[in-house]
Amino acid sequence: MATPNRKAGRRIRVLLPLPLEGAYDYRLPLELAAGPGSFVEVPLGGRVSLGVVWDDEENPEPIAESRLREVIAVKPAPAMHANLRRLVDWVAAYTLSPPGAVLRMAMSSPSALEEPAAASGWRRVEGAEARITPDRGKALEALGGHILPGTEIARAAGVSMGVVRGMASVGLIEPALMPRAAAFPRPIPDFAPPDLRDEQQIAANALREAVITRRFGVTLLEGVTGSGKTEVYLDAVAQCLREGRQALVLLPEIALSTQWLSRFERRFGAPPALWHSELSSRTRRVTWRAVAEGDAPVLVGARSALFLPFPDLGLIIVDEEHETAFKQEDGVIYHARDMAVVRARLEAATCVLVSATPSLETVTNAQAGRYAHVTLPNRHHGAALPTVEALDLRQYPPERGRFLAPLLIQAITETLARGEQAMLFLNRRGYAPLTLCRTCGHRLQCPNCTAWLVEHRAQRRLQCHHCGHTEPTPLACVECGTEHSLVPIGPGVERIQEEISELFPEARRLVMASDTIPGPAAAAEAARRIEDREVDLIIGTQIVAKGWHFPHLTLVGVVDADLGLAGGDLRAGERTMQLLHQVAGRAGREGSTPGKVLLQTFSPEHPVMMALVADDMPGFLKAEAAQRAPGHWPPFGRLAALIVSSEDARAAERAARDLGLAAPTGAGIQVLGPAPAPLALLRGRHRHRLLLKAERGIRVQPILADWLARAQIRREVRVQVDVDPVGF
Ligand code: ADP
Ligand code: ZN
Repeated sequence: MATPNRKAGRRIRVLLPLPLEGAYDYRLPLELAAGPGSFVEVPLGGRVSLGVVWDDEENPEPIAESRLREVIAVKPAPAMHANLRRLVDWVAAYTLSPPGAVLRMAMSSPSALEEPAAASGWRRVEGAEARITPDRGKALEALGGHILPGTEIARAAGVSMGVVRGMASVGLIEPALMPRAAAFPRPIPDFAPPDLRDEQQIAANALREAVITRRFGVTLLEGVTGSGKTEVYLDAVAQCLREGRQALVLLPEIALSTQWLSRFERRFGAPPALWHSELSSRTRRVTWRAVAEGDAPVLVGARSALFLPFPDLGLIIVDEEHETAFKQEDGVIYHARDMAVVRARLEAATCVLVSATPSLETVTNAQAGRYAHVTLPNRHHGAALPTVEALDLRQYPPERGRFLAPLLIQAITETLARGEQAMLFLNRRGYAPLTLCRTCGHRLQCPNCTAWLVEHRAQRRLQCHHCGHTEPTPLACVECGTEHSLVPIGPGVERIQEEISELFPEARRLVMASDTIPGPAAAAEAARRIEDREVDLIIGTQIVAKGWHFPHLTLVGVVDADLGLAGGDLRAGERTMQLLHQVAGRAGREGSTPGKVLLQTFSPEHPVMMALVADDMPGFLKAEAAQRAPGHWPPFGRLAALIVSSEDARAAERAARDLGLAAPTGAGIQVLGPAPAPLALLRGRHRHRLLLKAERGIRVQPILADWLARAQIRREVRVQVDVDPVGF
């Protein structure tokens, strides 16, 4: 008879949320039950780590049976679905990241797995024999047959906590766990649907049909600003709810989307679940769990929501799909819009990409027939699109020391006189982007980055917008010591605010930038004040470009329309066009008064300005495509960037040179660089860049993997791989 073998059990693979090469082998003891997707605790070095049982592929170098360590415990959490495991593997392979680093995003944080603690409260003990004072009587009455927290009993009965504690000590009440309330109320598909106008209804029907098929498909929902795209895709969300599947909406700036959230609640009678980086860890746990158990029918989130454990995802909406905020730039470098399409495919779900100014990537996919395409050409309420004019600063310069041209000032005056609101847009925080010594010419620069320090006058500090370094604004030049010699060069929103306060002292002003609108509460308050006409003039950074709906806003002035066009970025033009179109779209959204947009520019003949003035985005994209296609630039070819960085300038340079020497060659591929990266010094690291360009159809991942293996980069140098880079 065999003696029980302590080493009995099955070999399994466990992926750990750490940047390791792959899954590790463990032994699952007989007494534990776990399958692919189970969350398990395993020993790792001297610690215990949480991991996920991964799929049963052979490990290429299996560890010896005798050295296998045992799984310690299986967590009572819902197993990770095969679809999500495949997404993790897919994203890892595509971005050349360790699968564990991607898994980490899917686990959000190991603590998310813990069962949300049931809150405890008190319950009445029937037939308890203890004296019932008048206060105790009131408390028992307030408690009734419920389970309530002590503070709640005291509050409802109007007695002190001492009374409640006394009741507990004499056995009148006993501790009890409160039932876990349904984490998220179900949105009701037909709670308050709007009457869609004809073109909206046609678009909505197309999306509905896509959702009903329960098959994978991507649709581009394109519509001018204010055309009612949101109402159309909310109709698709309603259909998804009727199908009993979950829906995910990705928004680029979830923390500022208070108008969106209240609209959702009016439409569905319940709020959606939320997912973004500022949630408390408890909310995170509750939400993660609710999603995993199918109890969160609709979730709205930032890009990381893409890795939540939906058991049955039927619809993914990517609103403002052209936004660069969907690109994650550190850790696992991925584009949430592209990965949303991948997840939708794995889930047999519908993916809807929404924009007034879709990216050339998406438009190209639609034109090639890979994506369906529905459009809303008209604004709601019959509102006209704003007229856009270029204001040539060479011909109509501002007065000395000012940044607003007389024509713009005049337009503001007229707007305010009509009792309407005006907005000035400048995509630059702070007072001035550069501070210069007028005696010696010294420019104040960040010690850690290739960047000027930006003056924030209200705080009397200088700030680096790349690494966060700040220092008090010096009184004398740090180089030559001359006092009162430092002068601000160029405007930021604070400086425009100052100019406005001199020009329009009576006007009520509001600055909207990330430092003045730090979160949802401030955003909601700002929106309320604008809607309630407590504000005449809004001065803002790109925050104001987001989907706000301000009915009384009729004039938009762009202080520096050329701002985004400098630099060698492939998409500088496209992105500037999208941003300015978005900003312009805030004007004249409500019928009666048409909106007007003035672009202050030194190059009115630039294709971006011409396209904005002529309202010809398709024409602009066509010209872009014609420029990019011959050189196989994206989306007509593939790009990947290698960023080599080190605190040691020479080490970084040497590694970049070595990578250059080991560069792959072959038909249809080309390596550009090495060259100093756009921010040659960032957070104290010296950076060089190499770009791999490949013709469409060539898979860049194996080429990159082979290249990195051959180059043998030394430890003190970091190499970041960025497949499909967006800013370069
Ligand atoms: P977009 O997202 O295309 O910029 P919105 O969805 O924000 O446009 O719609 C603009 C405005 O028109 C919003 O105030 C919205 O509530 C309103 N709206 C759109 N469609 C309808 C509709 N069918 N019925 C009533 N109001 C609508
Ligand atoms: Zn810096």
